[in-house]
Amino acid sequence: MSRRAVVIGAGLAGMLAAAALSTVVDEVVVLESDELPGGPEHRKGLPQGRHAHLLMAGGLAAMEDLVPGVGMRKHLLAAGAREVSLSSGMIALTPEGWFRRWRHEGPQMLTCSRALLDWAVRDAVLTHTDVTVRQGRVAELTGGAARVEGVRVSTAAGDEELTADFVVDASGRGSRVVTWLAGLGISGIEEKSVDAGLVNATRVYRTPEGADRFPLTIVQANPYLSRPGRSGMVMPIEGDRWMVSLAGTRGGGEPPSDPEGFLQYTLDLPDPIVGRLISGAEPLTDIHVSRSTSNHRRYLEKSRQWPERFVVLGDALATFNPAYGQGMAVAALGAGVLGRELAAGTGVTAPGLARRVQRGAAASVNAAWTMAVSQDVWFPGTRGGAPTAADRLVTKYTRRLIRTATGSYRAASALWDVTSLNSGPERLLRPGAVLATLGGPPLPPAVGAPLTPSEREVLRGLDRTGVR
Ligand SMILES: Cc1cc2nc3c(=O)[nH]c(=O)nc-3n(C[C@H](O)[C@H](O)[C@H](O)COP(=O)(O)OP(=O)(O)OC[C@H]3O[C@@H](n4cnc5c(N)ncnc54)[C@H](O)[C@@H]3O)c2cc1C
Repeated sequence: MSRRAVVIGAGLAGMLAAAALSTVVDEVVVLESDELPGGPEHRKGLPQGRHAHLLMAGGLAAMEDLVPGVGMRKHLLAAGAREVSLSSGMIALTPEGWFRRWRHEGPQMLTCSRALLDWAVRDAVLTHTDVTVRQGRVAELTGGAARVEGVRVSTAAGDEELTADFVVDASGRGSRVVTWLAGLGISGIEEKSVDAGLVNATRVYRTPEGADRFPLTIVQANPYLSRPGRSGMVMPIEGDRWMVSLAGTRGGGEPPSDPEGFLQYTLDLPDPIVGRLISGAEPLTDIHVSRSTSNHRRYLEKSRQWPERFVVLGDALATFNPAYGQGMAVAALGAGVLGRELAAGTGVTAPGLARRVQRGAAASVNAAWTMAVSQDVWFPGTRGGAPTAADRLVTKYTRRLIRTATGSYRAASALWDVTSLNSGPERLLRPGAVLATLGGPPLPPAVGAPLTPSEREVLRGLDRTGVR
């Protein structure tokens, strides 16, 4: 009997879920409301694509498994993505001081525009599988509380019902899944929002001559000062460009959208390095500002009732403050859970499959959720959460760990393994990490950005601000 799966949304979660499904069904149809570009171009349905996106190693590893035979890392690098070592290729000012740089490589992350990343993944999946993408906006699910049987979709040709043996909702943060489930008779879905009121502002610059090897530069927000958070990042992307993203929280931390204000904001950060780097750089775009970046979670795995043959992945399941750079990796890990369950089971109609995938996907949300929320609750003006006794305890330990990581490779690599989503948070409680944390940093804090003499020279050459 011929089997069909339908995926709602052709973003990262959707294309990766489609790749997983293509190994076990005869037909996978991805329904996408947006018009998809034929190349690495920005599109309306992905407004966050204007802003900096770091792809963490755990997410890339999941992608490699989901689209075998492609070599996703090589595919992305060939398309123009850059690889950045967290240990040696990045400079970051944390609330506890500058991270040192080490000779060891440590976990790597990929940087490129979101348009390139989505296009490269879509291209790889469409080239190496029989997945097809059709334009159409899904309006609701069909079936009942016991089992989803398809979707109702609006296309240019009119409304249509598409039957399916399995449906994945990967329609992103605006997903209407709670309403759709209510339409099937499933209600009472628990949801939680923790919203620091983050605003992102991004501008792309031409990488100045001689600066193409300058490390990725981050000045992180400090949640522990009872003041709105402010942060800035210079991230290398394809085409010899820098993507410069600023982010700030509600109540005065929001970055402005005018060029002078944008530069001034970078210079007013706890270290002016971002401003010094871009002060003489040539802007290639306007400044794009967006909101709607709260942490939002749907606890679908806790629902008393769950229909067979339906799962929800990616941002439709949970979104995170983007400052922690984890949404795409969590989306890929969720699709990886689906892939593993399908590989282990007896096909998409296996009883209990959907529930197992939903629980597994929730487990991969947990670490990123805890990391983002346990920091966001400290910003003044955060809505939907205040520090609990557990947050205070976790914060005490993680602040000490980060302080240690500024001068201890052992502590730093534990932290990077977790932020890369290579390991779960339990990695921070292993004896090596705990002992290092209790001992404190063996090296004194770095004074100023940890740059090599030649990088210092580059910075001096670029600086038009006169600030030192
Ligand atoms: C400012 C910002 C910066 C970020 N930075 C990072 C970062 O550095 N690292 C990181 O890992 N993550 C980052 N993220 C998070 C990341 O963007 C998301 O986690 C990721 O896009 C989730 O992928 P997705 O496929 O679930 O959803 P999306 O990428 O949003 O895709 C959903 C797709 O579904 C389509 N769709 C929606 N409704 C329907 C419908 N009814 N019918 C058919 N199609 C529909 C949409 O058009 C879209 O194509 C950032 C987010 C923001 C907002």
